[in-house]
Amino acid sequence: MAATNDSGDQHLLLRAGRYEDALLKPVPRDDNILEARNLTKCFGSFAAVTDVNLTVKRHSIHAMIGPNGAGKTTTFNLITKFLKPTSGLLRFNGEDVTQLSAPAVARKGIVRSFQISAIFPRMTVAENVRLALLRPARLAQRFWRSERGLSALDGQIDELLKKVGLRQQRNSCAGSLAYGHRRALEFATTLALDPELMLLDEPTSGLGHEDVDRITDLIRVVSADRTIIMVEHNLSLVSRLADQITVLARGRVLAEGPYETVSSDRRVIEAYIGDADD
Ligand code: ADP
Ligand code: MG
Repeated sequence: MAATNDSGDQHLLLRAGRYEDALLKPVPRDDNILEARNLTKCFGSFAAVTDVNLTVKRHSIHAMIGPNGAGKTTTFNLITKFLKPTSGLLRFNGEDVTQLSAPAVARKGIVRSFQISAIFPRMTVAENVRLALLRPARLAQRFWRSERGLSALDGQIDELLKKVGLRQQRNSCAGSLAYGHRRALEFATTLALDPELMLLDEPTSGLGHEDVDRITDLIRVVSADRTIIMVEHNLSLVSRLADQITVLARGRVLAEGPYETVSSDRRVIEAYIGDADD
């Protein structure tokens, strides 16, 4: 077989069960950071996600919306490998990551907030960020860099706290933070891992107007040099932030495009009207 790097080649290797060989043949980097092809997840006989195709552009904010039960969280779990797909292919930076474990894809730079970044309520805000900076996933990425001294860490802690607007709360107990500040701390501990692809599952759920605005600004700031996929029910926020939107309904992609396109799509409107909860 010729040593081409095209995805068809990878498919053949995968179908022949030669995962190692397929993984050794990365497709050259292009503008897409993540591609899902025919991603399917069945729980018993129930298909929660069926043939989902996703193409996420590097440095974009990509939103996933859809009525309750549409398969958004399941798709997130497939991307972060908390769930293994029943079938389909997932490619990150041109590399087939379909068979990798959750820690392995985290080390590659796919990090989900706010699950992976647990907050320890008895520690201070700064201690929580310090712990996140010392996480194994991050150390694996940063191992060969020289500035790993503790004082360098202090500088990074302050920088992160400044970014999320928590410098005043540096020495407060994390458990005493107001809800919006806690969300900001979760953001900081996720950012500490320096993810290339950051997944946010309902980042503004439960927040009041002021905090929603703060988190919106924060998402915009952190998106400057990374890619974000977010599930969000607040459509006004989605319209302001998202470059591209994938609408899921009943486990399938219903529509895709910028906000103006999907919000005027009859099928999307019907899917939302048909689900009174959303
Ligand atoms: P969304 O996040 O869009 O609200 P989910 O991805 O959470 O939707 O769920 C999609 C569908 O899959 C729902 O009908 C849900 O009940 C079902 N589902 C999710 N996780 C499981 C599971 N572990 N076992 C069985 N069914 C599940
Ligand atoms: Mg969900």
